[in-house]
Amino acid sequence: MSGLDKSRLIELLEYPRQRILQSMELNQCPHAGFFNHTDMQCINCHQGMECTWMNHNDETVAVDQKTAEELKQQLLVAVDFIDSSLSPHHLSRRQCECENCTWLKKVQKALDIPAV
Ligand SMILES: [Zn+2]
Repeated sequence: MSGLDKSRLIELLEYPRQRILQSMELNQCPHAGFFNHTDMQCINCHQGMECTWMNHNDETVAVDQKTAEELKQQLLVAVDFIDSSLSPHHLSRRQCECENCTWLKKVQKALDIPAV
C-alpha cells in the first residue's frame, strides 16, 4: 500500500477518537475504558467495539509506529462507527455539510474509496 500519506491518516484518526470517546459510557466501565481481554465483562460489553478501537488508537498509542495499511484498517473501522451513528438525514452525504459527513468525505478521498 504505497501512496498513502501516514501523517494524513493519523490526522484523520483525531475526529473519530473524540466521537467514540464521547459515545462511550465510561462511568459504567470498571476499567475506565481500558480493554481487559481476560475479563468476561469486557468481552461481553456492548461497547466492546468502540473500546477495542480506542485502546488501539488513543493518544497513548504510538500511532506513528503503525504502517499505512494498519492505519487504513483502523480508519475503516472508524468509518463504520461514524456511519452507523448517522441518522438517515445524512444519507445524501454529498449535500450534507455536518462534521460527520465532512470527515467521511475526507477519509474516502484519502483512502481512495468510492463514495457511498
Ligand atoms: Zn451529515
